[in-house]
Amino acid sequence: MPPNSYVSAPAHDAYDVIIIGGAMMGAAAAWFTASDPDFDGRILVVDRDPSYANCSTAHTNSCIRQQFSSALNVRISQFGADFIQNLRGYMGGDPRVPQLKIQNYGYMYLADTAVGADALRASHAVQRAEGAETRLLTPEELAAEYPFYATDDLLLGSINTKDEGYWDYMAVFDWWRRSARERGVEFLAGEVTQISHDAGRVTGVTLTSGDRISCGQLVNASGPRAALTAAMAGIDIPVEPRKRYTWTFSAAQPLCRELPLTVDPSGVHIRQDGADTYMAGAHSHIDPAVDPDDFDMDHEIWMDHVWPAIAARIPQFEAIRVLREWAGHYAMNTFDHNAICGPHPELTNFLFLNGFSGHGLQQAPAMGRGTAEWLVHGGYRTLDLSPFHFERITAGKPYVETAII
Ligand SMILES: Cc1cc2nc3c(=O)[nH]c(=O)nc-3n(C[C@H](O)[C@H](O)[C@H](O)COP(=O)(O)OP(=O)(O)OC[C@H]3O[C@@H](n4cnc5c(N)ncnc54)[C@H](O)[C@@H]3O)c2cc1C
Repeated sequence: MPPNSYVSAPAHDAYDVIIIGGAMMGAAAAWFTASDPDFDGRILVVDRDPSYANCSTAHTNSCIRQQFSSALNVRISQFGADFIQNLRGYMGGDPRVPQLKIQNYGYMYLADTAVGADALRASHAVQRAEGAETRLLTPEELAAEYPFYATDDLLLGSINTKDEGYWDYMAVFDWWRRSARERGVEFLAGEVTQISHDAGRVTGVTLTSGDRISCGQLVNASGPRAALTAAMAGIDIPVEPRKRYTWTFSAAQPLCRELPLTVDPSGVHIRQDGADTYMAGAHSHIDPAVDPDDFDMDHEIWMDHVWPAIAARIPQFEAIRVLREWAGHYAMNTFDHNAICGPHPELTNFLFLNGFSGHGLQQAPAMGRGTAEWLVHGGYRTLDLSPFHFERITAGKPYVETAII
């Protein structure tokens, strides 16, 4: 059987852990759990779309950053960067596993208002306290280091070129799934349609095939469909599918140095993609929740908003040619833009792994590790992820991340 294929029927009718969703988060949770020496149970990962064609993971821009406003998110990305760059070591030194690097062109946050500049300064202080190498740049410094930017309207830039930039998520994703299978995890093609629970415990799931499978613990790793999955257990979570558009393009005059992932005040972001090609991302001004099957492109947004914004910031991008375009979905936590993880307070064997907006790929190592710790040990052993627990939502106490792209 190919190392990444899914089976069409479960081998057992009961598992210690069932994970709904086998993309980046589900694969991370499965691999970390199966790799824990104290775990000797059975894990089943169920995914309704084993091709991964429509999941968030398949539509990602595949970058990592240290520039967050909360210390916990900085630490999560520090572990992410360490995991990526030491993948083989984390996989027990397996010589089949590639050695990965981060393409450190950095993220460049640009501010054109005093409020925006203050936010960059505040985040900079948090990041530096955590050991990140973020630098603040005046417009003059910006123009000297990155001469292609138009800087007339800018007040401040913020960049970090260590552990920030593009990485090969597919290599990590593939190896999590391959290694998890080698450790006995089953990957099943199927859609969960019902979650049974009794006396404050999840007891199992039902699939469209009619199969009923029992479980000891259940993980919701269903991305933009997270609220639909939670609703099957009678739980309401503030996670919505929000459409995000991506374009890749070539430029008649390529830039003189690598383009950082530039977060422009217009709301558009652009970055280096290939040697002489670039990538832009944006969303519509009104940003409604969409149907999880809606992947239609909005062709006007490129002409009316995105291209004018990037040509204004980088005048060399007046002459560009679009190569590819696609729409994907963030699983947006509308309450405070942060992850929701850990157990439900009453249905205590139902675990969340949801609401990662545009930064779930880089968070997958730390969130997978933390979820495994909770599943196996009933508590966190490394990073304390409890600020992301569901209780903050019912208590109406947001744990806000402001550095959202
Ligand atoms: C355009 C775009 C750019 C992004 N750029 C970045 C970036 O640069 N860096 C970064 O860190 N993050 C980025 N992200 C975010 C990142 O891609 C996501 O946070 C991450 O991939 C989420 O993974 P996931 O496994 O939670 O969800 P998904 O990848 O959506 O996977 C969920 C899985 O659950 C399955 N599923 C759902 N419901 C059921 C059910 N009932 N039964 C069985 N299976 C089910 C689905 O089929 C799917 O495979 C980006 C996202 C987008 C859309």
